[in-house]
This record gives sequence, structure tokens and C-alpha cells, in this order.
Amino acid sequence: MNTQFNFCMPAEILSGKDTVKNSENIFSSLGKKCLIVTGKSSAEKCGALADVTFALKKAEIEYFVFNKITENPLTRTCCEGGKIAREFGADFVIGIGGGSPLDSAKAICVYAANSHIVNDGIYTEEIKNPPLPLVLIGTTAGTGSEVSGVSVLTRENGRKQSVSGKNYYAKYVLADPKYTYSLPASSTVSTALDAFAHAVESYFSKKHDFLSRKFSCLAVGETVPFLSKFTNPDFTLTEKERDTLYFASLYAGFALNRGGTCFPHGMGYALTEDYGVPHGMACAVFIPAFLKEAKKGDAEGFAEIIKACGISENELWRLLNTLCKADITIPIEKIEEYRVRWATLKNFKNSPTDFNADDGASLVYNLFGE
Ligand code: NAP
Ligand code: FE
Repeated sequence: MNTQFNFCMPAEILSGKDTVKNSENIFSSLGKKCLIVTGKSSAEKCGALADVTFALKKAEIEYFVFNKITENPLTRTCCEGGKIAREFGADFVIGIGGGSPLDSAKAICVYAANSHIVNDGIYTEEIKNPPLPLVLIGTTAGTGSEVSGVSVLTRENGRKQSVSGKNYYAKYVLADPKYTYSLPASSTVSTALDAFAHAVESYFSKKHDFLSRKFSCLAVGETVPFLSKFTNPDFTLTEKERDTLYFASLYAGFALNRGGTCFPHGMGYALTEDYGVPHGMACAVFIPAFLKEAKKGDAEGFAEIIKACGISENELWRLLNTLCKADITIPIEKIEEYRVRWATLKNFKNSPTDFNADDGASLVYNLFGE
């Protein structure tokens, strides 16, 4: 067995009761002025914003709340956030939210310190100055964006694209799952499926290593027990169960940092861009096909994943086929467009078999074709 691994986690991750409320020393160490980056209302609804401002006031830190982040955030909005941070004189940034505000906060730190980078320039321009220090507080149990050096933004042409590297890590992650307690049922399912997708895609990715597979198995083992619950539309979760799901999303994030994503994520972006399918579900609809490929390409690995799931293979197929669904119809011309566009998609090359853009287009046709 090859037990070699590389593990880099530049962020200091702190968890525990009232972590955020008790973080005034961390905030003080970062400066006197702070830009808080959030979506429209969830940061307030889940209580994280109140806890952050409580600690900032205690530390006598001036703050400004930039709450313009939408789902699938635009490079333009993040560039605007960077300008506001500069004009306000922010010493650091706190991002609160699901993947959208967290990814945006990462980009805002880059834009703020690099006024030569404008909008889509973030994908091409050199980062000349170190980004502002960043603190991240997650409120969904899915993306693991808190612990990744990846920011997924939407380009001016409406296409999602990620940008990544050491400049995109937080300095601190304040991990308190209580902020996920207010997540509605449909977002709970979609984000949990995102975490499951991260775990299995990175497990079978060509870039996986020994340790990333351990994190994948850990995340799978803690996520799969919830799948049968999710098949009941009236499901409820206890606080303890929500805590478990939240930490599972971080373990999947650790795995993702090493392995990266395979074709479900590459293809899923299109369903979000063109049909508004939430990110997690958009990727999850391709997970059953992905796992079938994984079984063909790496039977031993597949057996390890089934073992980590703690249920039979048949039960896993049944649950995934029940849960991973999108009620959309895609015209043939659109599928042809995807076939062409996906020919250069790196996620196929990272996948465990030679499944390619043509296979991807056929899969979309079978699942959603007119
Ligand atoms: P999201 O887009 O951040 O949020 C989805 C919705 O959930 C929003 O309406 C948001 O409201 C609401 N919400 C968030 N937390 C809530 C809470 N605690 N209670 C009630 N409502 C809440 O969702 P997400 O699935 O976490 O993030 C998806 C994004 O992350 C996509 O753009 C995806 O591409 C990206 N992503 C990034 C990585 C990475 O490694 N960086 C990995 C996977 C996915 P508000 O708008 O009011 O906040
Ligand atoms: Fe994802």
C-alpha cells in the first residue's frame, strides 16, 4: 500500500461552543477595521453576524457589512467588495455564509490588496500584493469552502470557474455548526450531497493520496447514514446530527484539497448556470454514473467506499437514485453545446476511467433529454 501523502492546511481551524463570540483576541490580532462579507439574510438569521459583531465591538474594531453576495457570486460583485474594503481601509475580512459568501470573501481579499485586478482579471492577472487576512465562518454543511484554497466565481459570460492557490486560504476558520441549524430541508439535502460528492470524487480522483482517502472515508461514513432520513420529505435533524453533518463537510473539504473534483462537478456547473439547479444537487445527479465508472476503474477502492458507507451497495444505489434528481428538460442543441464545451474539461481527465465529454453528453441526454 502506498502510504505517501502531502497535507497542507494553512488555516487555523477553531471549533467549540461560542468560538465566534470568544474570538475578540483573534480579531484584534488582525487589525482595527474589518469588512464583513455575507449573503442577503442568512448570516443574520443563523445568529453568526450577531456573534461576530459582539466580538468585534468587544475588541473595539470598526466594521462594515457588505451583504451583496448572491448565490453563484459574480467576479464583478467581488471586485466591488474589494473596492469597498480598500475605501473603508479594512485591515481584514470576515466571510460568513455558505460557499457563495465564503468563496467571495476569499476573492475580495485578493481584489482589495490588488487594485490592478478587475472582474475576470482574477483568473489571469498576477497577484502582486498579499491578500488581506481572512476569517471564515460557515453556515451550510456542504462545500467545505472554509478549509479549501478554492474560490468558485461566475465570470462575466455567466460561466462558473474556480480560481485557487495558497492566496485563497483563510487565516482562521471559526467552525461552529450551530449556524447550520437554520438551514431549510432542501438546502440541507443538496449541501450534504455536495459534501458526499466531494468525498467520493476526490477519493477516485487521479490526484488522491493516502491521507485524502482517509478523509474521504470519514466524510462518507458520517454523511451516508443521513441519506435514508432525507428520503422522507418531512425529515428533521437533531442539533447533534447537524453537528455531525457540518464536520463531515470539513473532512470532505480536506480530501477535496488534495484530490480535486471529477466529472460530476465539471458537468454540474452547467445545470446550475443554465437551469438554476442548486450546486450540490447539480453535481449529485451525476454521482450514480460516476460511482459506476469508479467501480469499473478501481474495484478495490469502490469496495472500500461501500464499506465506509456502512450500507449495502444495493441500498446505496437505491438511496442515490431516489435523492439525486433534478426536474429539468434539456434540449438536444444545448446538450450538443455541452459536448463541445466539455471536450477541454479537466475534470474528465481527473476521473478514474476514460469517461469523456461524449459520454457526459449521452448521460445528460439519458437523464434530462427532451
Ligand atoms: P450558498 O450559495 O452559499 O447559499 C445557498 C442559500 O442558502 C442562500 O439562499 C443562503 O442565504 C442560504 N443559507 C446559507 N446558510 C444558511 C443558513 N444557515 N440558514 C438558512 N439559509 C442559509 O450555498 P452553498 O451550497 O453553501 O454554496 C454553493 C457555492 O459554493 C457554489 O457557488 C459552489 O460552486 C461553491 N463551492 C465552492 C467550493 C470550494 O471549495 N470553494 C466547493 C463546493 C462548492 P443568503 O444568500 O442569505 O446567505
Ligand atoms: Fe461542490
